[in-house]
Amino acid sequence: MARKNPMETIGHSREAKVSTPTPRLEIRNLRRRFGDRDVVDDVSLTIMPGHVTCLLGPSGCGKSTTLRMIAGVEMQDSGEIYVDGDLVCDTVFRIPPERRHIGLMFQDFALFPHMSVADNVAFGLKGSKDEKRTRVEELLRKVGLYRAIDEFPHVLSGGEQQRIALVRALAPRPRIMLMDEPFSGLDNRLRDDIRDETLSVLKEEDTAVLLVTHEPEEAMRMADEIALMRDGRIVQQGAPYNIYNAPLDKAAVSFFSDIN
Ligand code: ADP
Ligand code: MG
Repeated sequence: MARKNPMETIGHSREAKVSTPTPRLEIRNLRRRFGDRDVVDDVSLTIMPGHVTCLLGPSGCGKSTTLRMIAGVEMQDSGEIYVDGDLVCDTVFRIPPERRHIGLMFQDFALFPHMSVADNVAFGLKGSKDEKRTRVEELLRKVGLYRAIDEFPHVLSGGEQQRIALVRALAPRPRIMLMDEPFSGLDNRLRDDIRDETLSVLKEEDTAVLLVTHEPEEAMRMADEIALMRDGRIVQQGAPYNIYNAPLDKAAVSFFSDIN
């Protein structure tokens, strides 16, 4: 696999001539121990640009810890993280979170209440006032909320605030979007619409997505690939319908049994 590792010398570049597409995100053998427990235990994953991988598993299996290590707010005990083939973090080398080109969206998405929608979305943007405004308008149109550009968050519904949070995270054109149960605070009726809309915006922007969820139905709806996680390990990985139709073991069967 072609990969630029700053630890390698330039003379050893024969590998780089192989024209395999470079994954947007690759994590290799990630581990994190809390006390005497391996909360994340040898997790490896690859995501291509424009693809959505769902990390699916029950509460407490280590999903959020995995995401936090990729975001750079939690340090792994071992393993490596690569973005577009470049090493961003191993146990000796570490690029800080703000330079990883990663967007974050969590359930507790909290917009800044004292800022207008426009200022919320422009918050992480660099460039001239006009450039920022153009990007903000483009994104708000994509999610059908251009009319709310000068509103303040409190006048918007939960679903509208969620859409604003999505475009705020997307505004700086992150290469990767990490989403941790972002839809669980929404009521059922709204959730499907927002899932579909989120997916279409993310695909349009060609962002690679790692979506954490404990809901099989959400993973089936949104994922190009599902990584089933249990007790810190990825126990099965593949296209949603392959996993659904051929679960590896009883635990996977029971996990999927509530979907019809
Ligand atoms: P999930 O997101 O799948 O619900 P988490 O990654 O949040 O799981 O947590 C996995 C396990 O690690 C849980 O048992 C949790 O209590 C534990 N854990 C998470 N963070 C810490 C921490 N900072 N210190 C100790 N234990 C932690
Ligand atoms: Mg979690």
